Amino acid sequence: MSSSRFFTLKEARLSNNCPECYSNDGIELTFKQKFIENAFYKAITNEVVNEMHCMNCNTQIFPIQWTDDIERVVEYQKRALQPKPKSIKLKPLAWVIIIVDLLLLVGIVLFSTGVISF
Ligand SMILES: [Zn+2]
Repeated sequence: MSSSRFFTLKEARLSNNCPECYSNDGIELTFKQKFIENAFYKAITNEVVNEMHCMNCNTQIFPIQWTDDIERVVEYQKRALQPKPKSIKLKPLAWVIIIVDLLLLVGIVLFSTGVISF
């Protein structure tokens, strides 16, 4: 049970013309960074995706529709972007399993070296 999700890193309002409705105040560019979360950990990956949406005509604008101007602005925004560093955070359940494993290991070592016996 692992799921990968995205969190919003940055939202920017662009003043470019929408390829659909030609409005110049509706385009919103969103950068999202991917993270993976399961029962044991939450990990931030360094994968960043972007989405473009026009608030005016409520359409998603795919890269294939981008004009040169839009592409330039996206490149600029990308360069200014500061993604969160890749990281992994263990959840309490993972710690419990690690500690139980360690205790078991210590028990086995102590038992096999004859320090403790039953
Ligand atoms: Zn539009």
